[in-house]
Amino acid sequence: MNIPGEIQQFCSEQFGTLISFQAASGGCINNGGKLTTSSEAVFIKWNSATRYPKMFSKEKLGLELLHKAEGLTIPEVRAVYEGELYSCIVMEFIESAIKAPAYWEQLGHGLAAVHSTSSTKYGLDHDNYMGSLEQYNDTCTDWLDFFIRSRLGPQIKLARDHNRMGKEPVQLFERLYTRLPDLLVTEPPALIHGDLWSGNIMTDSQGMPALIDPAVSFANREMDVAMTQLFGRLPAEFYEVYNNACPMAPGWQERLDIYNLYPLLVHVNLFGGGYLSQTMHIVRRFV
Ligand code: ADP
Repeated sequence: MNIPGEIQQFCSEQFGTLISFQAASGGCINNGGKLTTSSEAVFIKWNSATRYPKMFSKEKLGLELLHKAEGLTIPEVRAVYEGELYSCIVMEFIESAIKAPAYWEQLGHGLAAVHSTSSTKYGLDHDNYMGSLEQYNDTCTDWLDFFIRSRLGPQIKLARDHNRMGKEPVQLFERLYTRLPDLLVTEPPALIHGDLWSGNIMTDSQGMPALIDPAVSFANREMDVAMTQLFGRLPAEFYEVYNNACPMAPGWQERLDIYNLYPLLVHVNLFGGGYLSQTMHIVRRFV
């Protein structure tokens, strides 16, 4: 079984005899897959405990916040382990059925329910991760300030520190910051999934949508809608239902690219320079 020994030991203490492990495809950051044990089949993900401190306790908190919103299927977390070398999260295994006819409608209603969870401030009471990068959630009452200081700013700094971005792009971003008050619309803080690309939207055993792998915070909900269009779009039915349940301010389509600058910068930092030209192409359109 291709799972580190200390994690196997933890899992057998928790779940009984370990019967088989089937690696998952599609994960970008962690090792993971289906672990069948004598008590149940679970989904397990693990990684280095030292490189990504508390990554999985943060994922657990995120999944629990989404679960509380009662809009969509969210896998229940069974256990989190933090060892010396490795840490892991063990959660309910989502057995995917074929999408039910009401799948996209349910995603629209469910996401609207998640976004109706509000807070007095943008941010969160703890920092978490976006992929394997730290996501800073210092709370703030000003949306633009939060978006610049806790979302775009740290990613630009990281890219600069690792020579993935030169001076000119930084200057262009600074010009963009001055334009943001005219370009963006402020809404009350909404609970967002935070990493809502299509790979994190699964199908559950009833053929209904399930969300995994969040990077939650209270933010502008247009960030979630934007991420559903970062690599292609979801079917029009989803946007229609969502917009009826939770109408978006006029002009939302034009703002999505600006919000996608955040995940694009995360991609620059995680996967390299190829994403920089896509990022700067958007910035240039708005400055
Ligand atoms: P990473 O943190 O490495 O990005 P993900 O959480 O995205 O990993 O999971 C990788 C893949 O594993 C997903 O694309 C999905 O196919 C599968 N997966 C994730 N969570 C579950 C789950 N609870 N049940 C079944 N399969 C899952």
